[in-house]
Amino acid sequence: METIHTVEWMKQVARQASGTGRLLGLVPTMGALHEGHLSLVRAARLECSPVVVSIFVNPKQFGPSEDLQKYPRRMEADRALLETLGVDYLFAPTDEEFYPRGHRTYVEVEELGRGFEGRARPGHFRGVATAVVKLLEIAQPHCAYFGRKDAQQARIIRQLVADLNLDARLEICPIVREPDGLAMSSRNVFLSPAERCAATVLYRGLDAIRQEIARGERDATRLVAALRRLLDAEPLAAVDYAEIVDAESFEPVARLSGTCLALVAARVGATRLLDNMLIEGDRGDGGTLHTQL
Ligand code: AMP
Repeated sequence: METIHTVEWMKQVARQASGTGRLLGLVPTMGALHEGHLSLVRAARLECSPVVVSIFVNPKQFGPSEDLQKYPRRMEADRALLETLGVDYLFAPTDEEFYPRGHRTYVEVEELGRGFEGRARPGHFRGVATAVVKLLEIAQPHCAYFGRKDAQQARIIRQLVADLNLDARLEICPIVREPDGLAMSSRNVFLSPAERCAATVLYRGLDAIRQEIARGERDATRLVAALRRLLDAEPLAAVDYAEIVDAESFEPVARLSGTCLALVAARVGATRLLDNMLIEGDRGDGGTLHTQL
């Protein structure tokens, strides 16, 4: 595996791949890799060669009071993991290389970034969208791989790829969880043992409404109320939002129909955690719904 530190070198690799008709796969990450990230790498390896993983803790997606300084950084361990998975290139630019002095251009996706994570973290999605467009432009992937763990982010990226006529195909991969259901996240290392136990409440809440849906409940307002009751019962978790939204518009729904997402965000101790469940398949005829946690 070659480690690439400059934009120019990354572009050269991209040009070479396209010149020889090879399908470059890109997996953008902020490092501190876990099985969630590795599942994206494996998906990329199945379809693409070469595979590029980027590790860049993007300063523009962190607010001034957020955890940019203390965000986990484990470049050597990450590099070793990626080697074992047969990744071809690790793209790891410095902040100055990625955003040279005088950088002034930002990408903003209207509406979709307003609620939920966008409300909790002003400027976050502008930072994400800007970095993702730059990564897609630099690496020119045939396909880029993202996780549904960050469902609103994935929806925004799908929108910007369409709006800006970018060529990359997007693959949104399922959420990888710990054995007790907690969604894997680089931030889970910040949880104390007691918080780590409490953190499963996000999964438990979503799983509880999954069972309600399996029993035939279609009223989203009642499902959200049940979800909130469960989350509120955990003293170590401070709920930020719990909602069921339309998967396209990210607007709350009153009844399950079409494709929806149940979204949860909560602070456990000082750590902000996200989770969601995909709910698909109802055509408004009371037919079977498929849920994916
Ligand atoms: P991050 O390093 O947190 O920016 O995440 C990089 C990519 O990995 C994003 O597309 C995330 O959605 C994805 N990802 C993070 N955690 C998981 C997980 N538990 N399962 C699947 N994908 C994940």
